[in-house]
Amino acid sequence: MYITYERAEFDVNDIGEIRRVVGEAYHNGVEASKHGRVADYIPELAKGKADDFGICMLGTSGEPIAFGDVEKRFSIQSISKVINLAASLKFLGFRETFSHVGMEPTGDTFNSILKLDTVSDLPFNPMINAGAIQIMSMLSNIMDFDELLGFARAFCMDDKIELNTPVYLSESETGDRNRAIAYLLKSKGVLQGDPDKTLDLYFKMCSLNVNAKTLANMGLLLACRGQNPFSGKHVIYPGYIRTIKSLMFTCGLYDESGEFGVMVGLPSKSGVGGGIVSTVSDRWGIGTFGPALNEKSNSAGGIAALKHISHLLKLNVFS
Ligand code: GLN
Repeated sequence: MYITYERAEFDVNDIGEIRRVVGEAYHNGVEASKHGRVADYIPELAKGKADDFGICMLGTSGEPIAFGDVEKRFSIQSISKVINLAASLKFLGFRETFSHVGMEPTGDTFNSILKLDTVSDLPFNPMINAGAIQIMSMLSNIMDFDELLGFARAFCMDDKIELNTPVYLSESETGDRNRAIAYLLKSKGVLQGDPDKTLDLYFKMCSLNVNAKTLANMGLLLACRGQNPFSGKHVIYPGYIRTIKSLMFTCGLYDESGEFGVMVGLPSKSGVGGGIVSTVSDRWGIGTFGPALNEKSNSAGGIAALKHISHLLKLNVFS
């Protein structure tokens, strides 16, 4: 298949051309990062460097297409919400999971309490803080952190994922808004576990150290319907992957999910550490890292790079 743009016609399956497009996307990401700001509401995150940027695209060949800071580890932050949801679906099932959390986008910021208090007792979806905290309350009854870490490593095809202890301590010391959410859920009688144990697991999962390659791996596992394409191991049932990707598409970038869906059109999830994971069914996992965030707390560089790749390689799921 050939697409036309300013330079020439090219074959979107030609790996050399794909590499060229990803290289251009990298430069767009570097430029866009100049207009973003590193998150500082968690003190350890303020140490992030605004001019870091990297992108990694991985297919089943196992040969990554990578530019920039793809080895540098940073905290996964809200991208862990994908892992938490996957664990809940795998170990508790669809019916139990969605008896306690909804499937609707909020249009609010990721840590909002507004609608939770005024509109609904259950959190709207698992991709915002309230929903992830609710999921952690369920998981805290059946798993400890080491078991969740083991699952995260399998889900991301990365055995080197570790807890970033300074980030965890920093989150735990300053996470009053998340505490407010957990105790509000408890006051409504919907939280499924002990609030402090729940929050501890939530903070730890936000503090896993990953890099852009890890995120590309996660995206590829999602693209391969939950099967590790290198070992052949089925990490999670394909039907659950469909659910996860649907929620990533509709809710993965907080109150920018709608615009991102139009402009990029790929199931994706962002985190305030600067990561974005995206997945292209049957083909690619894409991981970007750029800690300079836009006003919606999403990576400015990551969004610019993904727009370019999706547009030129026609990856929008509705293309
Ligand atoms: N740990 C962060 C928090 O709970 C995660 C938020 C995010 O990445 N958007 O506030």
